[in-house]
Amino acid sequence: MNINYHKNEENHNPIFANIFALDGKIALITGGGSGIGYEIADCMAMAGATVIITGRRELPLKEATGKLGKNVHYIVNDVTELDKLEGLVAEIESRFGTIDILVNNAGINMKKPALEVTDEDFSRIIHTNLSAVFALTRAVANGMVARQSGAILMISSMAAYYGIDRVVAYAASKSGVEGMVKVLASEFSKFNVRINAIAPGFIETSMMKTAMSSDPDRMNRALNRTPMAKFGKPKDIGWAAVFLASEGASYITGASLPVDGGNSIGF
Ligand code: NDP
Repeated sequence: MNINYHKNEENHNPIFANIFALDGKIALITGGGSGIGYEIADCMAMAGATVIITGRRELPLKEATGKLGKNVHYIVNDVTELDKLEGLVAEIESRFGTIDILVNNAGINMKKPALEVTDEDFSRIIHTNLSAVFALTRAVANGMVARQSGAILMISSMAAYYGIDRVVAYAASKSGVEGMVKVLASEFSKFNVRINAIAPGFIETSMMKTAMSSDPDRMNRALNRTPMAKFGKPKDIGWAAVFLASEGASYITGASLPVDGGNSIGF
């Protein structure tokens, strides 16, 4: 995008409108039927993108697209079925066009003391939050690399930043995602494909409520180390995702952006 920074001295709004806009972009957001994914879809659609959301359950996806408007579409897809991910990408590209933005948002959590976590528990979390994220990223990045254009976003977690008890598998999966971002940024940069993570703090979604509702001590600890003294809203992640996917972030790759009200630096 060629931008003349001096062109709009009287009214600089058009520059901002352009540089953060996603007009004409095709965005795939996994787990977009609820929570953070839903709000990323809303923000990206408002920024001008055509958005495809996925998830395992059709009903929330249908309700979400009904609310999000005509530029948001859904496809039922379980990211853990790795052999169907190439087909998902092919279907999107034939129906809507090539994918410009991938947001690996779908994820699951499990709260259990480490000594009670079975191999099956551990594998299930790693399979959804890490193996599927890699498989889908590879499937989408193949085309992005060939086209020499694309932006990929991972949704990490504070669990990859510091030691939160009783989420050993989840923390391992999100730490893996953080490592993957650095490796893929170094491999993909020469193809003009950027990859970054957003590390949400404690964001009010059903996942967060499940983890906190029966554990007021955990909720108070999370809040007490958050300098802004409040939980985040899913839209806080949505706007950060728009920024990282836009031309405004064209020199940002391999980064992990905390969107956490200061939680990661709280004392
Ligand atoms: P939710 O549980 O509200 O939403 C998760 C979404 O992922 C759902 O739409 C779900 O749809 C979908 N999903 C789950 N498993 C699969 C699967 N196998 N295939 C496809 N879709 C799937 O969680 P959040 O919105 O809170 O979390 C979104 C992301 O943000 C996750 O990666 C999470 O780890 C991360 N995060 C959240 C934080 C928070 O405080 N809320 C903090 C840090 C990170 P369905 O069930 O229909 O498949």
